[in-house]
Parts: sequence; C-alpha cells; structure tokens
Amino acid sequence: MNLGLSHISLSEIIDGNTLNFTAGHVEVIVYDSRKISTSQKSVFFALKGLQKDGHIYCQHAYEKGVRCFVLEKAIELPNDATVILVEDTLYALQQLAQHHRNQFSIPVIAITGSYGKTTIKEWLYYLLKDDYKVARTPNSYNSQLGVALALLELNETHELAIIEADISHPNEMDRLEEIISPTLGVFTSLGNHYAEHFNNQKAHLNEHLKLFKHINFCFILEHYSSPFRRNKIATITTHSEEWRDYISSNEQFPDNKALCLKVAEFFGVDKTLLKAKMEKLPTLSGRQEVFEGIQDNLIINDTYNIDIDALEQSLEYQFASKERNRKVVVLDLSFVNKNRQKEIKQLVERYQPDAVYYIEEGQLPLALKNEEDALILFKGSFRSNLSELVQRFKNRKHETWVEFDLKAILYNVRFLQSKLQPNTKTLVMVKASSYGTGDVKIPHFLQENGIDYLGVAYTDEGATLREQGVHLPVMVMNTEKNALYDIVRHCLEPTIYSLAQLSDVIDFFQEQGLENYPIHIKVETGMNRLGFQKETISELITLVKNTQCVQLKSVFSHLADADNSDSSYTEEQIRIFEQIKTQFTSEYNAPIIFHLLNSEGILKFAAKASYDMVRMGIGIFGYAYNTPGLKESIRWKTTVSQLKEIVPGETIGYGRTFTASEKMTIATLRIGYADGFRRALSNGKGKVFINNNSCPVVGNVCMDMTMVDVTNLNVQPGDEVEIIGQHQTMLDFAHQLETIPYEVMTSISKRVARIYIKN
Ligand SMILES: *Cc1c(COP(=O)(O)O)cnc(C)c1O
Repeated sequence: MNLGLSHISLSEIIDGNTLNFTAGHVEVIVYDSRKISTSQKSVFFALKGLQKDGHIYCQHAYEKGVRCFVLEKAIELPNDATVILVEDTLYALQQLAQHHRNQFSIPVIAITGSYGKTTIKEWLYYLLKDDYKVARTPNSYNSQLGVALALLELNETHELAIIEADISHPNEMDRLEEIISPTLGVFTSLGNHYAEHFNNQKAHLNEHLKLFKHINFCFILEHYSSPFRRNKIATITTHSEEWRDYISSNEQFPDNKALCLKVAEFFGVDKTLLKAKMEKLPTLSGRQEVFEGIQDNLIINDTYNIDIDALEQSLEYQFASKERNRKVVVLDLSFVNKNRQKEIKQLVERYQPDAVYYIEEGQLPLALKNEEDALILFKGSFRSNLSELVQRFKNRKHETWVEFDLKAILYNVRFLQSKLQPNTKTLVMVKASSYGTGDVKIPHFLQENGIDYLGVAYTDEGATLREQGVHLPVMVMNTEKNALYDIVRHCLEPTIYSLAQLSDVIDFFQEQGLENYPIHIKVETGMNRLGFQKETISELITLVKNTQCVQLKSVFSHLADADNSDSSYTEEQIRIFEQIKTQFTSEYNAPIIFHLLNSEGILKFAAKASYDMVRMGIGIFGYAYNTPGLKESIRWKTTVSQLKEIVPGETIGYGRTFTASEKMTIATLRIGYADGFRRALSNGKGKVFINNNSCPVVGNVCMDMTMVDVTNLNVQPGDEVEIIGQHQTMLDFAHQLETIPYEVMTSISKRVARIYIKN
C-alpha cells in the first residue's frame, strides 16, 4: 500500500471531523495493532471486530509509531497524533477505498454468488497472473473489509483486479457496487437454502446482480442469465463440447472451471498454456490431513480455517469419496459470527450428512464416540482447539512419539537469559520447525513467554509462523530474490549478506513503495559461510544511507568454534566483530542492534560479547556441549509390538546379518529408519531401554520396525521403550550415530507424533 495522503486530504475524503491535527501524511492502513511492524507512516482505523473493539488498541498503535487515527469515539492520545472522528470507521475505510479505486482505469472483475467465489478468484488469479499483474481480495476476510483492503492495494503497476463481493442482507450490494465500480462480472451460483434474509430466490438473485449494474460484460451460467441483456453476457454451459479437452466429465466443480476458462480466454490467455494450467489449479484447503482413525473411521482433519469456500471444497471432497458410506461432519463454530454460522449450517445441510456434531466449549460431544466406519470431516478455525481434539481419533497403531517438556525449555531460556545484561534482547532460532520439534508449538510458547525475536532459515518457515498466528518479529537468514514478495506480505525481516543481494532488495522495496523496511546485515568474522567481508562494509553503509527504503535493524555474525575448550578462535571473531561494530556506529547514525552469540556462546562469552541481543538455539532444549545448568527436554519413545523366542541357528531380519548362537527372546519395536531411528544403529551399534534394562539392536533396522534382544528380561507386548530419555541421553544417542544433537533432533521424522508436556 502506498497511499501518499496528507492527514488533511484523508480527513476530507472520509468526511471526518478532525479533533486534533498535526501535519503529516500516511502510506498504509492498519487496523490490527499487533501487525504494525514497519515504521511506514500509517493510519490506524479502529474497527469493531468480532471479538474486540479496535478502539482499545489505539494506545498500543501509538506506541508503535502511528500518528494518525480514525475513530468513532474520542480517545485520549498524546498531542502529536491526528485524530479524525467519523460515524462508522468501516464505512470510512470503504470511502477511502472507493476514492483510491477511482484513480485507476484498469479492468476490475467482480465475483459474486452463493458458493465458489473464493475458489474462482484464486483460480482466475492463477490463470491470469503470468500475463497480467493482478491485485486480488486477500483470503479469509469478511467481504465488507476485504473489498476495501483489496482496492487499497491497487497501485500503478496493476493491470487487473479481481474482487470478491459477498452479501448476506438486502441492500448491501449497492454499496459494494459503488466502492468497487466493476467493469466485468462473474456470477458463480445461487444456493437454495442460502437466502435467509431474502423473501425468495429471485430477490436473492436480483440483489447479487446489482453488482453488475454498470458493467460492460458478465460471465454467468446459462440458467441464471434471464435478467440480462443479451449483448452484455457470455453465458456458459458447463457440459458443452467446448470444454471437453479442459474439464473431464467426472470432475469436481465443473461450473467453476468453465467460468474461469471463459474469463481467461476473454483475456487472451494462450489455449495450450491454459490447458496445462487447468491441471494445476490450487486447492483452498492446503492443510487438510486424512488419516485412519479409531473404530475404522477415516478422518479428514481440516482444522485450519472455516472460510465458506474452503468448507465447500472439503464437503465436496468428503461426499465424492467412496471410502466410507457414512458421512459425518464435526464443526467448531466458536470463532464464527452468528450470520456466518447460519450460512455454514445451511451449506452443510445441503450435502445431507448422516450426522452433524458441534463442538461446544472445546468439548467433543459424547455421541461422537459411537461413530464407526464413517468418513468424518473435522472443520474449524486453527484458533480453536479442534486440531488437538482430532488427535484423539488417531489410530495409535504406530505408537512412537517424542515428548517435549515445555517446563524444561522455559527453564533453559531463563537460565541462558540469567547470563545476560538486563537490556540484552533474546532472539530464538526456530528454523527447521524449531529444530524438529514441530511447526509452531514452540514459537507460540516462546511468544507467550516474552521472547523478543524469532529467527528462521527460509521465508517459507516464516510464512508458516505468520499463518499460524505468530506475530513476533521474524528474521529470515536466507533471503532468495524470488521470496521477497512473501517476505513483505508476511512482515518478515530479511538478512542481507552481499552487496548484490542488498541492491536487489532495495530495488524490490522501491518498486513496492516501501519505506524504512527493517533489514539485518550478516558480517563475516570467521565462519566463512555467508556474510559481508569487512572491506565491503563502507559501500554497504553508503548504499543504505542513500535510500529511504530500508532501515538497518541489526548487524550480526556467527561463531564457528564456540564449543571448543580452546577459546582463541572465538576471541578473534569477537575482536573482528568489535571492529565492524565500531565502523557501523561511526558511519551510520541511527541505533543498530548488534548480536553475535549462539547458545554455546552465551554459556561462555556472555560477559564480554552479549551486545544488544543473543540468538538462542539448541540450548533451550538443553543440549549445548557445555551444559551445566541446562535441563534435557526431549524424550523419544516407542512400544513393543511382539515377542519371539528363537533357537540357535535362526537369523533375524533382512539380510540375515544376525544368527543366534543360543536361545534368545527378541522384541519387535514400532520404530524404524523411516522414523529417524537410523539404519546405522543395526547389530548392536544402537540400543534402547525397556523397563530400565539396556537392550541392544539385533539384525538390521527395518523401515518401520526394529528388533532388540530382551533375553531373560521381563518384557510384555505394549511395554514402553525409551530411545532417548533418562537412561540414554540425547548426547549418548548422538554419539552412537557419530553425529550431534542438532542432526538427531531434525531427523526425527514427521510421522512420529509430537507431544508437548506442559508440566
Ligand atoms: C542456528 C543458528 C543459531 C543458534 O545456534 P545454536 O548453536 O543452536 O544455539 C544462531 N545463529 C545463527 C545464525 C544460526 O543459524
């Protein structure tokens, strides 16, 4: 967003009453004070949300640097803030959006109808994005806000906009039509039970079609087309010959696909390309998980969002599936407003499931426990605890899990912090799914416990954090050029390690109209991996000084030899870092955060080299080499599936690498190299503990199973087996594999269940 509006013109556009005025201008709109993370000039709109009233966050927004506020009621704010009063902040935001939209004369496609809008929008975007620079409504917004936000994103580079317009009450569409001023229309479909606030279907249809009052051209399925003047529409018959090569006869969503094809063709997309693209249309519900559940149920775990379109896709999927006849839907509507709840219920009814259950107050309904042999769809927002409830339906055939002791982790964080100066900040590296501990549980836990910063290796990891509600600042270590858009979109902060990369980033930010975007500089002091050489630093500083786009948030380097008891190499790195720090402080006159130490470094060099921040990693799990004071936090376990007596001469497992020379009892465990229990542990290299006894591996480790010697021990099927824990530490285990805890942790495979123990 790059509005370039003075406070005065903003106030005029939205018809506001300016209570307090200070000169200034705004570039971006903010309405969620947690997401204010660039110091771009912004205006805060206090919107009344579903849960909270935005007015209570004004102070927070002020603290984050906002100096212009649009409010419905006066709020005490310091004198240097402009305060504009309006009757309705959402309406004012829409007025601004309308004004902004009118600056551009590009085609604007508006999509409406009961179902399929988001699907069509995303598909059209996918089909057109290589030929046009397209702006589109962000996902999962309620339409009144989403429409405004999408229009406000428009800038000179856009060649086309795709906007989704949703209505639930009579007379809403006129307003949306005014704001959007669409030039082209797409009508998706009309639901049967959908029109609760409308007298009849026709009234509902007519309300939708008001969006198309002034358009040049509309794409619509044939059976909805009667109210249209013939010269203004392209009617579409789904099953016509025309689409035979593109849409197969038994496909899902043929109508939606046909509509998209027609629009793409209208915009001149090459037919052969179109065909290839149709095969790769994105699905909305990216996080759906299907697994075998208890009582022969098959579970669709789709607990990421409860967007109507995503729900429809999940239902389509569920009801098209032949795997179980009985179809059951479980909904958690706790983060959905009343109107939406009705729509969702009606949509679900349309599919006529055999049973529908609702989660109330985070509890599974009792009757759900009696479901057998059903295909059960679990649908709710990631903010609810449904995704955890779903786990209870997991068939624990594969009883292998890893436990993380959150209490020990917090203890370690506090222990490491106790070595630092009180004003030294804490960044925790959560790369590689927080060292293999799972995507977001640890980051959320760190966020709850007041950590200042997170670090990841790649942009995608940062995006996952944002998508799952982590709002701490996130530093990204490897910033590929083609990931910059996602960096900005998710408010991530890139690390720069070369001049070429720096100029790419500056070019991109300039193109996007960004100002003072935070960046981090990595300097070379002896690791010889990534980083600016000392000689290039002057030029780097000059580049940064000559642009408005970026601000130097931090400068850092990384220790190569911190765990060596001979500290001379580290001392030398600290010396070089000091010199570089002096150079930055003298040539760049704004505050910079300097940081050097990782976990091992904190344990040894905190007194002399903590600077403004440290970067913790493995230490929070308790596994630095220099460990006094840290607590181990990880236990890895499996269970015994079967016991077997063998006699001399018999062999064990693949390749028959072990032959018994006496009578033995062998236990088969539910763990193999596909779980991360590596094959190198075969034939006595590795061992496990069962009921406090050490049991060596016999024969080769298989993909999903491992055999161990339990001769003369009291062991039963189902007994718990320790791989890492009290008897065999992470370090012991790593030594057996001639590796380090980092590799062991990040090699525990995804199929191993993660369990987080709170106390
Ligand atoms: C991974 C990483 C850390 C954390 O290192 P630990 O040894 O796990 O404490 C710190 N800084 C950088 C740049 C890293 O990549």
